[in-house]
Amino acid sequence: MTQPLRTDILIIGAGLAGSLLAWRLMQAGKSIHIVHHPSLLSASRVAAGLINPVTGQRLVLQENIELLLPSAKKLYRQLEAQFHSQFFFEKEMLRSLQHDKAKLAWKKRQNNPTYQSYLSNIDGQSSVIKQHQTGYLDTNALLDSLHTYFQERHCITISDVRQEDIKNYQTHCQWQHITASKLIFSQGWREINGKFFAFLPFQPAKGEILHLSTPHSLPDYILNQGKWLLPLKDKSFKIGATYQTDASDEQPSESGKHELLEALKNMPIKQKDISIISHQAGIRPNTLDKHPFLGMHPKHQHIGIFNGFGSKGSLLIPWHSQCMCEHLIHDTTLPSDADIQRFTCV
Ligand SMILES: Cc1cc2nc3c(=O)[nH]c(=O)nc-3n(C[C@H](O)[C@H](O)[C@H](O)COP(=O)(O)OP(=O)(O)OC[C@H]3O[C@@H](n4cnc5c(N)ncnc54)[C@H](O)[C@@H]3O)c2cc1C
Repeated sequence: MTQPLRTDILIIGAGLAGSLLAWRLMQAGKSIHIVHHPSLLSASRVAAGLINPVTGQRLVLQENIELLLPSAKKLYRQLEAQFHSQFFFEKEMLRSLQHDKAKLAWKKRQNNPTYQSYLSNIDGQSSVIKQHQTGYLDTNALLDSLHTYFQERHCITISDVRQEDIKNYQTHCQWQHITASKLIFSQGWREINGKFFAFLPFQPAKGEILHLSTPHSLPDYILNQGKWLLPLKDKSFKIGATYQTDASDEQPSESGKHELLEALKNMPIKQKDISIISHQAGIRPNTLDKHPFLGMHPKHQHIGIFNGFGSKGSLLIPWHSQCMCEHLIHDTTLPSDADIQRFTCV
């Protein structure tokens, strides 16, 4: 029979959100246990891990970038030092301004001092700009290292958790043989099917990515033409991503592949001899107001959520995991735009 186990915090889900929160809590001296199921596809395993402070046709700078980016870089460098492996790769991005909206936005932004460290002109070009402070996180390498670390410390269990099996008491909660002072759900988009946080306005969005190889040389920067092309360290490259608000399945589709291969034709690289290594799909845990979901359940004080990082997990999770960690340990106030207290309809 499985021995009973006591832990400070039980986390359900080991994508980027659950794993980085667990790491931060362990570093802060808390005991943790994680439960996840690898056969339940994780968006973090599909994501390209791009970090891009200025996005969209309107070239909008991410809110709180001055907090988010340093926090992300610091955490990824700490993890690299811990695991003797590089996870975060800084790479500039060339952004093609294909539509009038983007050209107009650039006109507005180019003399704005706030944007100067993120965007710049390329001499003689009117429809291509450079984006700085961009790069990508190798999410699979980072998650492999973290999961091995958790396994070596016997604090990760593989199981498909049914929220109906969670017992919620006055002072603690329990799932199977594990008793925890607090339980945090980091299940990505699957939270929409749960019993505790279904009241939160998730807007899951399916996405597909192609991983390709070519014998020809690739640019040393990320290309962004609406669809992006990410050259990787092993000379292969990724192209993505599709965006579909109907998130009824996680399967790669022929239409998704076609959309990406059509976008590839317009990329300034040699088109001959390209072959497909893999084609993956996943579901982003997007939210209606585009802000993450952090905090404890309004009725069940030992049960919380750390989720809703949408299309920007690599940039958003490091800083928000710090906020959530401090909230769980010291009861500090959460950032108001991420705190689930903004929704009252339970
Ligand atoms: C095609 C695509 C491209 C993307 N590109 C980027 C990008 O370039 N840059 C970027 O920053 N972000 C990108 N994203 C978004 C990014 O993937 C997410 O923001 C982030 O990975 C979310 O992490 P998460 O841990 O919340 O969710 P997930 O990674 O989905 O993890 C959820 C975890 O919960 C577990 N789980 C779920 N239900 C249960 C259950 N019942 N029992 C046990 N375990 C359970 C799963 O096994 C998994 O471990 C992309 C996403 C997609 C789909």
